This record gives sequence, C-alpha cells and structure tokens, in this order.
Amino acid sequence: MIATGLTRRIDKLGRIMVPKAIRSEYGIGEHTAVEIYTNEEYIVIQKYSQKDVEIQSKYHTDNVGRIVLPKSIRKQFLLTENDDYVEIFTEEHSILLKKYEKSCVICGGQEELILVKGKKICRDCLEEIKSIVG
Ligand SMILES: [Zn+2]
Repeated sequence: MIATGLTRRIDKLGRIMVPKAIRSEYGIGEHTAVEIYTNEEYIVIQKYSQKDVEIQSKYHTDNVGRIVLPKSIRKQFLLTENDDYVEIFTEEHSILLKKYEKSCVICGGQEELILVKGKKICRDCLEEIKSIVG
C-alpha cells in the first residue's frame, strides 16, 4: 500500500473528490460505477467490475468525478461533513481512504499540537527538542 500524502475534505453533502491523477490510474472518471466497502481500517473504492454480475453497483462518480461516501460508512469512520479530512492511499486495485487524524509527526500524540513549518508537533516533543538543543 502506498500513502499518497494527499488529504481531501468531506464536503457538506458527504462527497469527496479523489484527485484526477489517482482516479485515472484506476479507470475511474465521470459517471463511473464504483464499489465502496470497508475493511477494518480503510474505506475501499474500486471500479465496478462488469464480471461480478451478482454485485449490484449502487454508487457512481458524478459529472466531475466526485464520490458520495455512504452515510453508514461516514458514521462508521466518524467522518463529519464539511469538517473532517480523509487521507488517500492506493493499492493494486483499490483507492483506500482513512480518516485523517491530526497528530504529532514525532510521537503521534494528539494533545497540544503546534504547527512548525507545516508539520504538527506536540508540546511534549517540542519541549524535548528544546532541551536537546538548548
Ligand atoms: Zn509528540
């Protein structure tokens, strides 16, 4: 699995816009039927395969390639419309999404984060750096 380093915000209608370059790799354009399901960690998006006749595709990208994340999935992953972000990963046949948690780049902690040159660092780590340098 590859982390793209890209994040996208869930819009107010529960949609996300996966960057076109990524969608293109998987043959997902506008009005493309997709399968959306979840595993333990990720929301998985795959292009609907014509071969799987028994699977009825309920989801399509819209006219600009956005995908509505089903409400049940948004609920499961605690994703709030117009507020939360998802991080985008890719795998051989799938685009994977995960809630983007804001956390310290050093320890992964989520308390008292301070932004340093675009990276989040918690106060504890910052104090430790100061003590090493200082
Ligand atoms: Zn930290």
